Amino acid sequence: MPVLDFREIPDAHIATGKQDTFELFARDFLKALGFKVLSDPDRGADGGVDLLVEETRAGVGGETKIKWLVSCKHKASSGRSVSAQDDSNIYDRVQSNGCQGFMGFYSTIASSGLSDMLAGLRPVLEVLLFDREKIEESLLNSEEGMSLAARYFPVSFEAWKRENPKPATLFAEEPSLKCCVCNAELLEKEDKGVITLWMDMVDFTVDRPKAYRHIRWCCRGACDTEVRASMSNQGLIDGWEDINDLVMPTKYIQWVMTLLNQFRSGVEYSDEAFEEIKDFMLQVFPHVSRHPTMKEIERVEQLSDIPSWIGGLGT
Ligand SMILES: [Zn+2]
Repeated sequence: MPVLDFREIPDAHIATGKQDTFELFARDFLKALGFKVLSDPDRGADGGVDLLVEETRAGVGGETKIKWLVSCKHKASSGRSVSAQDDSNIYDRVQSNGCQGFMGFYSTIASSGLSDMLAGLRPVLEVLLFDREKIEESLLNSEEGMSLAARYFPVSFEAWKRENPKPATLFAEEPSLKCCVCNAELLEKEDKGVITLWMDMVDFTVDRPKAYRHIRWCCRGACDTEVRASMSNQGLIDGWEDINDLVMPTKYIQWVMTLLNQFRSGVEYSDEAFEEIKDFMLQVFPHVSRHPTMKEIERVEQLSDIPSWIGGLGT
């Protein structure tokens, strides 16, 4: 299922004043990949050249420079593949422009005829093909690519991002929650397992614990059973939550409020449980929150320079 809708980029043959957007996109895309742009997209007769870019390859004998002729074909609105007639005389065009390689940059795919022709050229030419799928894969795999996608595919990229939230980069270290039994990284799993809060009950008639003794997170199933067995031996009973539920913003803040209210009404924490609950909240938080803006990052840096006693909040 494609993520990005290339029809968001205006058609090349319609004179909207934006007809070279696809070529500008190609330029920005190749620049982000590390190619040096030798000639910018130029409206008008292009002599079969949309862009010229240069690649520097580092080898044992020093650097080698490869000059690429880039051919951009934007046929997303018709959805048709790029045929051998659409991209003809490839060898001659590459030679007459002093290039060593041919790069097809297509918003659809190459037809089988064109693919066969390119395969035939490979012994004498460097050939590189970026079709819809390859472009998309490359864009969605890096921060820089994603900011390009946001610029050229604002509608479809926004829709994808909403459905594929990424943890925010807030701390120097990656967030981590390891299963306390098998040590698996829970935050990377589809089913993130459970957090269990082991407590002494004050009185079963009031629905609140006296104190939390231990807090454990682990995989569902065998690991959870092992935790339960060892804790039940100590006469503790548990409350539990799905970690997948707690990474949802509304559920997370609701749960934090419940714990705060319990704290206020006198529920105690053992030293160990208190450290554990703080650790859990910190590790899960990047999955709950969004990326801060540059301005917010600067503000947080300023705030952390202020000693906590001035703010009177303590830590
Ligand atoms: Zn486990």
